[in-house]
Amino acid sequence: MADVELKKVSKSFQNLKVVHDIDLDIAEGEFVVLVGPSGCGKSTTLRMVAGLDRPSGGEIHIGGRLVNNVQARDRDIAMVFQSYALYPQMTVAQNMAFGLRIRKVPDGEVTQRIARVADILDLSELLQRKPHQLSGGQRQRVAMGRAMVRQPKVFLFDEPLSNLDAKLRVKMRAEIKKLHQMVATTTVYVTHDQVEAMTLADRVVVMNKGRIEQIGPPNDLYHEPASRFVAGFIGSPG
Ligand code: ADP
Ligand code: MG
Repeated sequence: MADVELKKVSKSFQNLKVVHDIDLDIAEGEFVVLVGPSGCGKSTTLRMVAGLDRPSGGEIHIGGRLVNNVQARDRDIAMVFQSYALYPQMTVAQNMAFGLRIRKVPDGEVTQRIARVADILDLSELLQRKPHQLSGGQRQRVAMGRAMVRQPKVFLFDEPLSNLDAKLRVKMRAEIKKLHQMVATTTVYVTHDQVEAMTLADRVVVMNKGRIEQIGPPNDLYHEPASRFVAGFIGSPG
């Protein structure tokens, strides 16, 4: 059974349709990347899965449950934003604990989960620091840690690396890939960077003007692009 399923999902703002009847099945443990030019509807699609935007039509299922009417905080997902979305007045540990406390996870378990995730992400020495005392890469790891301690069924990433410089972006890309190999949580990842998409994805979803142009493993897209748009987009330099 699919972990995340979109059935004919659409979204209009005022009278303008920006996502057109998207069908997409994401398997348990799969890493799927939505890629396409700016404005093609990637974030809107992700935000509907997250519960931050409401579909104008269609159905979204997470873990087999229809979630159209389920609020964001009651969906079994965690979203990773860009690093600046950390709470600046809280320490690293407090940032990681926050989402657990509002969900009433017991203190002992909060401590345990943070210690384990900090160990995986190499944050153990940094737990008492504030975000302004961290490098860009460290802040990004905290943002990922905050999602991981929630132990969600699905991770959602929206351009998590776009604030980082090119060198760090390549390094973090490798860390995200390694992390996924360790925890194997189902992931939906949005980027406009086709190199990032091709490096990270089990399957790539190429979007254009609110529609899916092609879905497939990176190799298939590279060798058998379904349209001139896909060929041009995948082939353009990162
Ligand atoms: P992407 O993430 O691929 O860059 P978005 O999903 O953010 O694209 O946006 C898709 C389209 O929807 C764009 O034309 C954008 O201007 C429009 N849009 C996104 N959010 C809103 C909103 N809250 N109100 C009106 N239009 C929006
Ligand atoms: Mg976007």
